[in-house]
Amino acid sequence: MPRPITAVIHAQALRQNLAVVRQAMPNSKVFAVVKANAYGHGIERVYESFKSADGFALLDLDEAKRLRALGWTGPILLLEGIFSAQDLFDCAQYQLSFTVHNTQQVAWIQQHAYPAQFDIFLKMNSGMNRLGFKPQQYRDIWQQLSQSDNIASITHMMHFSDADGDRFGETGIDYQLQQFDAAIAGLPGERSVSNSAAILRYQTQLQSDYVRGGIMLYGSSPDYPKHTIQDWGLAPGMSLRSEIIAVQQLDAQESVGYGSSYVAEQPIRIGIVACGYADGYQRISATGTPVLVSGIRTQIIGRVSMDMLAVDLSPISDADVGSEVVLWGQSSSGTVLAIDEVAAGSGTIGYELMCGVTARVSFITQE
Ligand SMILES: *Cc1c(COP(=O)(O)O)cnc(C)c1O
Repeated sequence: MPRPITAVIHAQALRQNLAVVRQAMPNSKVFAVVKANAYGHGIERVYESFKSADGFALLDLDEAKRLRALGWTGPILLLEGIFSAQDLFDCAQYQLSFTVHNTQQVAWIQQHAYPAQFDIFLKMNSGMNRLGFKPQQYRDIWQQLSQSDNIASITHMMHFSDADGDRFGETGIDYQLQQFDAAIAGLPGERSVSNSAAILRYQTQLQSDYVRGGIMLYGSSPDYPKHTIQDWGLAPGMSLRSEIIAVQQLDAQESVGYGSSYVAEQPIRIGIVACGYADGYQRISATGTPVLVSGIRTQIIGRVSMDMLAVDLSPISDADVGSEVVLWGQSSSGTVLAIDEVAAGSGTIGYELMCGVTARVSFITQE
């Protein structure tokens, strides 16, 4: 028998989450963002559920090629654009759209001496200050590129830094949107602005020809704890499940695990779970981080080690070796433990947990 830890990918949940994007933005085309191997879920495993999207967005050429190998013939957008002049040959061959965010990339396109018709997404830095052209440079770059023979279309693109916060105003998304709208005023071309947080939170204010939904597709709330996945109608796309492989009875004052960081105040029955930081469960998760045993909510206790962690079995008296443990996601009986709640227990976000499941964990896909 293989070690009992498994990441279960829920096809039905992924479809449901895509439907939430559609409902929120009925007039927009939807890019399903599948960067980082579909946020750790596996591009091949999510493809069937997401292939009704209008396009896919990601970063790596290799991942784009994997989508083509699956039979996807629609749009694919490279979110960080090209990394060398050479990449343009792949973009032409595999028909990849790509962002253009710096002058080096502009020069590579202008110097590309082979026939091509690129669909590009010209990125404006409207305040995030990572990628893109400042609003005052933007029109000039747009002019240059629109004169290039090898450009078929230019979509105006920006990215919000604060769509998951409450700053719709001077420092928030309102400001970025004003910068964007003012800089592209009068220019032809479609627009792409919203990520998951903007799709869910500002659907009435933001019109976008293309939205770029990522985290919400996988069943994590972009603005947790303000809103939970239940508030948004999202379902976990991944469940990290394992089993209890040992049970211990601690007396008062006994401890469990390295460093004896947890000391029992009274006698307690605990379970040892085949899951540790080498599986992608965060080592800094504190005692009290929620976990499901046999579908019932309890907490982890003590220090997470490489291959194991301990859970409090007090609420589940019949739990024993072989009982199901859900680190995040959904139990076989249907109880949901949102990845966001678990992430909060280690001071991080759902994105990091789902991207961090390690190679030794086996994956399966379920309806
Ligand atoms: C990752 C990414 C997205 C998706 O963001 P989510 O918060 O996961 O929805 C959208 N746009 C760009 C440019 C990105 O890099």
